[in-house]
Amino acid sequence: MANSAAPETNRVAELSWREVESALEATRTLLVPVGSTEQHGHHLPLGVDALMPEAIGERVADRVPALLAPPVWYGVSPHHTFKPGTFTVSTETFQRYVFDVCDSASEWGIENVLLLNGHYLAQDPELEVVVRRLRTESDVEAFHVPLVDLFADVAEEIRTGAVSFHASEFETSIMLALFPELVDMAAATAVDPPAESLPLTDYDALGENRVGWALTADDMAEITDAGNIGDPTVATAEKGEALVEAAVSDVAELVAALEETE
Ligand SMILES: [Zn+2]
Repeated sequence: MANSAAPETNRVAELSWREVESALEATRTLLVPVGSTEQHGHHLPLGVDALMPEAIGERVADRVPALLAPPVWYGVSPHHTFKPGTFTVSTETFQRYVFDVCDSASEWGIENVLLLNGHYLAQDPELEVVVRRLRTESDVEAFHVPLVDLFADVAEEIRTGAVSFHASEFETSIMLALFPELVDMAAATAVDPPAESLPLTDYDALGENRVGWALTADDMAEITDAGNIGDPTVATAEKGEALVEAAVSDVAELVAALEETE
């Protein structure tokens, strides 16, 4: 029953409002996992993009004082609707929804919001806009935190596959580290991207994407039958642990600096 000991969790959804009130004495930072529910090939579940940032956020909140919000499960995924189970919302709906969620937290004392984006690349532009709006229209110091950028250096070092664009080496490795029971490695299939990409574009999460571009569901249906692009069979839990640790330590460093400056 209720006792005065500090709760074991930093997950807002599992706390009472009085516990959140006490937590605010130690932190003014909210981690908001932002994902998408979309197809991730034969071997991964649809929730990957929300599951990853939520688990990473939980590890961050174990190291530095921060509250962990319930994830945003629905994102901007029009290019994945060629497979069942995928949901998408319009870019305008998504921006307004994420803005309102974060803005409402400023009503009860949250000053810093980190949007931990697990749906990398595809909804970066929307979240950049949300951050700008939060900083100008709300009293929130907001950050867009794309997980792929945090682990990019480590990923470049440890990768063995030439291509990891979607549901491949990086995401599968992270899932093997965090949720091995949700990965079916026996079903993992390598899918090569088109042999050539247009100048300044690349079918790789760490590629030379120097111009903004986006795939459609028709493009995806043409490129990949399984749903992934790249080779998930080279994924390992060890690689995933290294990627997760890179992201966790970076985010923890930012949170610690934000809490210090208050
Ligand atoms: Zn994903």
